[in-house]
Amino acid sequence: MSIEIIVGANWGDEGKGRMVDYFAQDADFVIRYQGGNNAGHTVINEFGEFKLHLIPSGVFSKKTINILGPGMVLDLQSLVEEIESFKKHGIDPKIYISERAVICFPYHRYEDIWEEERLGKNAYGSTRRGIAPVYGDRTIKKAILMGDLFYPEYLEKRLRQIVDWKLQIAQGVYGKDNPFTFEDIWEWTQKWSKPLLPYIKNTNEILEQAVKKGKKILFEAQLGTLRDLYFGIYPYTTSSCTLSAFAPIGGGLFGYPPDRVIAVVKAFSTCVGEGPFVTLMEKEEADQLREIAKEYGAATGRPRTIGHFDAVATKYGVKVQGATEIALTKLDSLTGKKILKICTHYKFENKMFDDFPINPILEKSEPVYIELPGWDEDISKVRRFEDLPQNAQNYVLEIEKRVSCPIKYISVGPEREALIMR
Ligand code: GDP
Ligand code: MG
Repeated sequence: MSIEIIVGANWGDEGKGRMVDYFAQDADFVIRYQGGNNAGHTVINEFGEFKLHLIPSGVFSKKTINILGPGMVLDLQSLVEEIESFKKHGIDPKIYISERAVICFPYHRYEDIWEEERLGKNAYGSTRRGIAPVYGDRTIKKAILMGDLFYPEYLEKRLRQIVDWKLQIAQGVYGKDNPFTFEDIWEWTQKWSKPLLPYIKNTNEILEQAVKKGKKILFEAQLGTLRDLYFGIYPYTTSSCTLSAFAPIGGGLFGYPPDRVIAVVKAFSTCVGEGPFVTLMEKEEADQLREIAKEYGAATGRPRTIGHFDAVATKYGVKVQGATEIALTKLDSLTGKKILKICTHYKFENKMFDDFPINPILEKSEPVYIELPGWDEDISKVRRFEDLPQNAQNYVLEIEKRVSCPIKYISVGPEREALIMR
């Protein structure tokens, strides 16, 4: 038996999907344990190029069963459409859906949009897919579980109460008169839940059995440490816990500590959405790197903000994840840069520090950099660390030293096999 957790140590989009796709090749189960269709994981392998939103990235491996865990929020329509899109590519996704995952309804999407509009320039930079409202509803006990779909009487009673309350919010807070009716929501639920019913299970039980049989289990996070609800750049975070420590809850497997926690780290910094970001690159340099590295959001297509490698944020990101090792991605995207900067400290009110702070300090922090020489050689075909140009090796070793965690994997291209093992 083995349990591994793959997480992001930065702001998300580190390349978790491609790493899960790699590790899933010999995994029996892959479990997504948080988030909804605000995720975008790009995976490139023998089947083509895919953008995954709700379906775990283990879906390409024949032997792997993929579980959408109890910590997830599921837009039924989006999930049905994602399953269909896989079928069109000749892949019948082997998935189970936890009966304890919650449903993201159309009214959650509306609320998300209305609230971002109300906030105007103070908006959170939400993907507007309803994720914050549905997690909020889960917490205040106004959510519907996937398993409730099997009990129409129970479902109707709860949904009527909730929709009535949502309509009052729509009118009172946002001035929207009857933007939907109970019947609209009921019809949507009936239509989009039908194809999903066969997949809904008590997944805790399935995993419990799997562990007893010695299976290999992989947990997959969505987003990164710095967007974590508790330890990220609150309130510019997501509304769920992105940490490895949450995997047992969001995945539904108890009493088995992980053998490995692999933190995926990008060789430079990017973020999509709002919030403080200390190592912002100058516009021209950022625009260039964005094009080379194709840094556009997989869920929304938004251009990602680009920065120099932030060792302060990453060290914190790795620590909070309890990472045992690092997979460093996109080293190839830095080829051709004359100078590479690594932010080793933040400066705030003339004091230097290397502990990642809360937002009021973060927003006023200045980056302190060291500079390393770059390399010009194409490294995308390199498969051994020793074969990397010396300056690329030095850059990796400097990051490893600064973030205090061994770098075991280095990716040099988006394809599954473009990977160096150390
Ligand atoms: P995730 O959300 O953490 O799964 O990451 P995303 O898939 O949203 O973003 C990572 C992007 O980088 C995707 O477009 C990947 O195809 C791409 N990518 C991942 N690893 C590498 C790499 O080593 N080199 C290059 N050039 N691209 C990579
Ligand atoms: Mg992504």
